[in-house]
Amino acid sequence: SSPSSPPVHSQFALNAGLRFLTPEEEFLGWAPAPFDLPAFDPRDLDKVTQEVPEAELVSDRPEVLLTVGFPGAGKSTFVKRYLVPAGYEYVNRDTLGSWQRCVSACSAALARGRSVVVDNTNPDPESRQRFVSCAREAAVPCRCLQFTASLEQARHNCRFRDMTQSGHVPVTDAVLFSYKKQFVAPDLSEGFSQILQIPFVPHFGDPPDPQRRRLFFQFSDG
Ligand code: ADP
Ligand code: MN
Repeated sequence: SSPSSPPVHSQFALNAGLRFLTPEEEFLGWAPAPFDLPAFDPRDLDKVTQEVPEAELVSDRPEVLLTVGFPGAGKSTFVKRYLVPAGYEYVNRDTLGSWQRCVSACSAALARGRSVVVDNTNPDPESRQRFVSCAREAAVPCRCLQFTASLEQARHNCRFRDMTQSGHVPVTDAVLFSYKKQFVAPDLSEGFSQILQIPFVPHFGDPPDPQRRRLFFQFSDG
C-alpha cells in the first residue's frame, strides 16, 4: 500500500457502498478524518462508455494491426473479443516465445492473404518497427491500436487476472514501471497509416456476469 492510500478499513467501507466513520467520528462527534483516495478508483470506470466503432476497427483489406499498451491494459481481451472473430490471425509473444517468431508468423499469415493482429506490449519504436517493415514487405498497411489504460488501471487488471485466470505469469510493479520507462508514444512517422486510441471500457461478458463485475470493482491495493 502506498503512503497516500487510505486505511484498508475505509476502502472496505467504500467497496461495501457504506459511509466510513472512524470510531472517533462515530462516537465522539469528531470532524471527519481526512484521507486521500488512491490514485486509481475502479468506481470511476462506471463513467467510461466510449468504444471504438467496429466499422473503424476492422478492415476488409489485408493489414497488420499492432497493439501498444501496458501489461494488463486489456489488449488480449479486446483482440480476442473483436479481431480474432473478425478473421485476424493472432500473433502473440507470450505464446510464440520471441519477437523473431512473431515476425515469421506475421509474414507467413500475410503471404496467405490473411490479416494479422500482433498482440504485444510494443512500448517503443524499435519493437514496433519490425512489424511495420513486415507489413511494408507484404505491401499492406499497418495500423496501431494504442491502449490508453494507465499504470494504475493496468495494475488493477493484473491483480484481477491473478485472481480469476490461471496460467499467466504475475506482472510485478517492476515490470509495469519498466514498460512506463521504455514507452514512447506511437507516431504516424513510424509508418502507421492510422493510430487508434483504445480506451479501457469495462466489460463482463454478454450477458454481464454480476459476480465478476462485483469482484472487479473492489479495490485491490494493500
Ligand atoms: P493484456 O493482454 O493487456 O495484458 P488482458 O486482456 O489479459 O491484458 O487483461 C488483464 C485482465 O483484465 C484480465 O483479467 C481481463 O479479464 C481483465 N480485463 C481486460 N479487459 C477488460 C474489460 N474491458 N473489462 C473488464 N475486465 C477486463
Ligand atoms: Mn495479453
